[in-house]
Amino acid sequence: MASSVAVFRVFVSPGRSLVIAGPGDITRESCDAIVNAANSSLMGGGGVDGAIHRAGGPEILEACKMIVERQGRLRAGQAVATFGGRLPAKHVIHTVGPVWAGGDHNEAETLASCHREAIRVADELQLQSIAFPAISTGIYGYPVEFASHVAVPSAADALAQAVHMREVKFVLFDSDTLRQFRDAAKSFAESKSLRTDSYHAS
Ligand code: ADP
Repeated sequence: MASSVAVFRVFVSPGRSLVIAGPGDITRESCDAIVNAANSSLMGGGGVDGAIHRAGGPEILEACKMIVERQGRLRAGQAVATFGGRLPAKHVIHTVGPVWAGGDHNEAETLASCHREAIRVADELQLQSIAFPAISTGIYGYPVEFASHVAVPSAADALAQAVHMREVKFVLFDSDTLRQFRDAAKSFAESKSLRTDSYHAS
C-alpha cells in the first residue's frame, strides 16, 4: 500500500465534508463506522467484505447471523449496523449493492439507496464519521465511472440532511478508482459551487 494518501475534500455545508481518499485499506480507518459491501446473506465473501471480516474477527459474522435470523436476508439498497469487533472503527454498516446488469435494472437507484441508508443508520446511532468503499464496483461489476457519479451525490445529499454526521469519506483501494471518484467529486462540487481543497497525508 502506498505510504502517501491523496485527499480531496468537498465542503458540503458548514462543518460537513465529503472526503475522497486513497489508495487505502478501509479496514484501517479509525472513523466511527466503515461500510461493508456485503451480500444479502451477510455471511461474508470476497473483496472488501472478506477483508472486513478477517480484520474485525468472527464476532462480526455472529452478529450478522443474528440479524438474518431476526429479519431475513438484506435486500439490495438496505443497510444494517453491527459493532466493529477488532477493527479500529467502532461500527460496521453492512449494505448490499446492486449487481450490474447493464444499467436498466434500477442499479443507480439501488446504489444511491445504499449510500442514503448507510448514512441514515449511522446518523440514527448518533455517529459523526463514516467511510465507504466503492460499493458494487468489484465482484458486482458496476463500472466505476458510473458508480462514482451516483455514490458521490447521494452521499453528499444524505450528509447534508443528517443530524449528527460530520464527515463522509470514500476510501478507495486502487488509483484508478480513486481518480474516478475524485473526478466525480470535482464535478459535483463545481455544479453546486462548493468549496474544495486537496492535500497529501502520510
Ligand atoms: P462488490 O461485491 O460490491 O462489487 P467488492 O468487495 O468486490 O464489492 O469491491 C468493491 C470495491 O472495494 C472495489 O473497488 C475493491 O477494489 C474495493 N476493495 C477491496 N478491498 C478493499 C479494502 N480493504 N479497502 C477498501 N476497498 C477495498
